[in-house]
Amino acid sequence: VFSTVEMAPRDPILGQSEQFNLDTRPVKANLGVGVYFDDAGRLPLLACVQAAEKAMLSAPSTRGYLPIDGIAAYDNAVKALVFGADSEPVQSARVATVQAIGGTGGLKIGADFLKKLSPDAKVLISDPSWENHRALFSGAGFTVDSYAYYDAEKRDLNFDAMLASLNAAAAGSIVVLHACCHNPTGYDISPGQWDQVIAVIEARGLTPFLDMAYQGFGHGIAEDGAVIGKFVAAGLNLLVSTSFSKSFSLYGERVGGLSVLCTDKEQASRVLSQLKVVIRTNYSNPPTHGAAVVAAVLNDPELRALWERELAQMRLRIKAMRQQLVAGLKAAGVRQDMDFINRQIGMFSYSGLSRAQMLRLRNEFGVYGTDTGRMCVAALNPQNLAHVCQAIAQVLEG
Ligand code: PMP
Repeated sequence: VFSTVEMAPRDPILGQSEQFNLDTRPVKANLGVGVYFDDAGRLPLLACVQAAEKAMLSAPSTRGYLPIDGIAAYDNAVKALVFGADSEPVQSARVATVQAIGGTGGLKIGADFLKKLSPDAKVLISDPSWENHRALFSGAGFTVDSYAYYDAEKRDLNFDAMLASLNAAAAGSIVVLHACCHNPTGYDISPGQWDQVIAVIEARGLTPFLDMAYQGFGHGIAEDGAVIGKFVAAGLNLLVSTSFSKSFSLYGERVGGLSVLCTDKEQASRVLSQLKVVIRTNYSNPPTHGAAVVAAVLNDPELRALWERELAQMRLRIKAMRQQLVAGLKAAGVRQDMDFINRQIGMFSYSGLSRAQMLRLRNEFGVYGTDTGRMCVAALNPQNLAHVCQAIAQVLEG
């Protein structure tokens, strides 16, 4: 029965990490994966998470099945974070939120739900986008196209082309948008540009699906979430996936969610019932630990304040690394203007380096980024920065 099974391609980023771990050179840097490391190059275990876990250990709980849609206190905290606790949609109970297995799980629940609802709709993702968007929505049975986003020549957004693609989209298409900290480019559209995108979505009758994997990593929790308020103000229905992998440094716990903004409370209860069918038929119900930790932190004023401080530290460290990277590249002899790195936001920088240059970085200098030129700024630190700058300078100027 398995004789015709073909070997699937290796995941390009995770495959590279394996190669990195086998690399015996003393100075090397893994800028390939999208993970935040601290100044010492370590994956942080946040103090707010440790405090919540300590409290949980002192009052151990049994591990029965959770409800299909997850821990209620968690779902409510996600809703409040995404829409605002006092916002009209939350107050009028027209948001259906479910706990999901990471942000990926939130996207997949949404994709399966939409496929049943609009089987013939096309899905549009940005060009380029997070690798898994295309695979995930194709896997759910959709035809996936892209909308223009990045201009490689200008090393900048191509907003006019983005608007033009959205204007040309078939009515009813599903548009996947990065709420903040665009992966892989690092370029976000401005609040004014969001207004224009929303106007097109409304005019063309498109279904917006926001992927919010980095809330708090851009400008701040409220600032990064402000885009949601714009969709609410426009009176649109929308889906939002949430991930706490980065913002809580809880990658392996797989904590995320999906929120669907409906027209009214009664519609939200129907939508919720369908999301539960999707979950029930996939994995029945979600795991307990990670969501319990996040709920404990978000629902406790002191722990929440601690989380906000820790998140701000991560955000500011990335910004500092961007500045030091730009300055370091200049000092290392790079003549071209690299200041665009400071205009990018979130974990990543689209460096503008070609595939051949990225290969040289990896092979000659042990500096690992993706073939597309994406580098994780959040993996830079005072120990590896000078080496990375020297290596890029050699590749660009040498
Ligand atoms: N969307 C985007 C844009 C991402 O960058 C990521 C994580 N790399 C995800 C979704 C998935 O998040 P999670 O690891 O929580 O599934």
